[in-house]
Amino acid sequence: MPVAQSMPVTSGGGLVDRFGRVATDLRVSLTDRCNLRCTYCMPAEGLAWLPREQQLTDDEVNRLVRIAVEDLGVTEVRFTGGEPLIRPGLVGIVRAAAALSPRPQLSLTTNGIGLARLAVALRDAGLDRVNVSLDTLSPDRFVALTRRDRHSDVLAGLVAAVAAGLTPAKINTVLMRGINDDEAPELLRFALDHGYELRFIEQMPLDAQHQWNRHEMVTADEILEALSGFGLVPDVVDRGAAPAETWLVPGYAGADGHPARVGVIGSVTRPFCGACDRTRLTADGQVRNCLFATEESDLRGLLRGGASDAEVADAWRVAMFGKRAGHGIDDPSFLQPARPMSAIGG
Ligand code: SAM
Repeated sequence: MPVAQSMPVTSGGGLVDRFGRVATDLRVSLTDRCNLRCTYCMPAEGLAWLPREQQLTDDEVNRLVRIAVEDLGVTEVRFTGGEPLIRPGLVGIVRAAAALSPRPQLSLTTNGIGLARLAVALRDAGLDRVNVSLDTLSPDRFVALTRRDRHSDVLAGLVAAVAAGLTPAKINTVLMRGINDDEAPELLRFALDHGYELRFIEQMPLDAQHQWNRHEMVTADEILEALSGFGLVPDVVDRGAAPAETWLVPGYAGADGHPARVGVIGSVTRPFCGACDRTRLTADGQVRNCLFATEESDLRGLLRGGASDAEVADAWRVAMFGKRAGHGIDDPSFLQPARPMSAIGG
């Protein structure tokens, strides 16, 4: 692929990087706080949360999402966190995004706690889909993994999401050796029986405690081996920029009547950086051009300093132009970013 040498001074257009990738999928973290303390994500005592004044206001989030959609060609917006359901203004933020033209696809990544109460309001505001994180079917293991006794709330959230039409409802699962990796087939059967689409995610070096270990993570190959009893068939649908490789599960239909699918997101062992179309905004208004970026670009300062939409859009373009070719987890020089996953947004 030809590599452009320098960023045009006045660019216009979308979020293009020097390798020709175009970012059209925006992940917006609405808070760095969470009501769970998953052992692979955060310490038991939580983290030093962003001070309120550093967090974008609802109006600031709405303005940046509008600029992304109307000026920068973003077509999909996913709200995440921390835990996005604990942001008081979430429904209004979704409603504002749904009113944009062209209307973006809108989704939410959540732990599901509180979704039973909010699913209908979110659907009515314009949310299209949800991904609910669930790493175990055992309530006891859930407590050990998340340090909170909320398993039944997550399951109720999934049921409510489907009832509200937030479909396909996907489940995100991180498997960890000796902790929940024996549950892969059971989790898939559960998802198939309920019409949820399961995505297994390889564990990445993004934990606040910096304890991730390459040799201990459960790989995509191991996950597929654990699912071999299902006779999975490689999916024929073009994957495009989707992070998940998908397989069809013979004998099962999805909620939409199409063949049921299961996905594996092999971020570490099967990286998909060459097709990446994502741009990320943190809860304090920093653009990240990659989950693993060690540099960020400050849009909040521009907003609060009186910048015009065109100036903000240009700063966003510049931030994306410098995106690296790949995350480099396997490079000897790899450095884990200072922000953990919970402060970036998955
Ligand atoms: N609170 C929301 C949730 O639970 O989905 C959104 C934020 S959470 C950080 C997003 C996703 O990242 C979850 O599915 C979580 O399991 C996943 N995650 C957290 N740390 C991870 C890691 N080190 N590697 C891979 N996935 C991780």
